[in-house]
Amino acid sequence: MPTRRGFLAAGAAASQQLGAQMHDHDHEHQAVPSDLTLRVKALESLLVEKGLVDPAALDALIDTYEHKVGPRNGARVVARAWVDPAYKQHLLNDGTSAIAEFGFEGGKGEHMCVLENTPQVHNLVVCTLCSCYPWAVLGLPPVWYKSAPYRSRSVIDPRGVLREFGLELAEDVEVRVWDSTAELRYMVLPERPPGTEKMSEDQLAALVTRDAMVGVAKVKPPA
Ligand code: FE
Repeated sequence: MPTRRGFLAAGAAASQQLGAQMHDHDHEHQAVPSDLTLRVKALESLLVEKGLVDPAALDALIDTYEHKVGPRNGARVVARAWVDPAYKQHLLNDGTSAIAEFGFEGGKGEHMCVLENTPQVHNLVVCTLCSCYPWAVLGLPPVWYKSAPYRSRSVIDPRGVLREFGLELAEDVEVRVWDSTAELRYMVLPERPPGTEKMSEDQLAALVTRDAMVGVAKVKPPA
């Protein structure tokens, strides 16, 4: 598996190579890393070179968010809420404290608000300003969550956005869109799918996806 550092280095090299070629066609080169990626690489190199940042510490931090903190945390919270009505009530009343019972806490003490999807109400989470996301339960935000089209269109045309994610909601379902901020992060408690009555908490957690906890998908029944 390529390391993040390797990826960035390869990206920078690829970009230089590309710049050296003449391009007289207008399709997009998706493989080229974004300007942002290259800037991050440049900044990281500078900080390391000047001895301001320890590359090992940086890698440990990234590893935490890529592997230890992630949507599996949120999935455990959801599964618990599905099997334990008292926990679910606590989660909906005070997301921050219910989630902290698992030892999952936000980096900067942000508050968590959990929104319950029901047959009548579908919740969708966005950050229109930037990319605020419940790191403690979902890890790093996916690229689409940070994209300008998702951020603007989720508010203007949530049903259209959901359709693009493959989720068609009935007309009588109310769609609620929640705008995250640095202080308040939202997570969706998806509906428990049918046919899961006999499943254990761990089995249930395995069904829960990141997208369902952002509200762009439903949890699918077991195959
Ligand atoms: Fe934000």
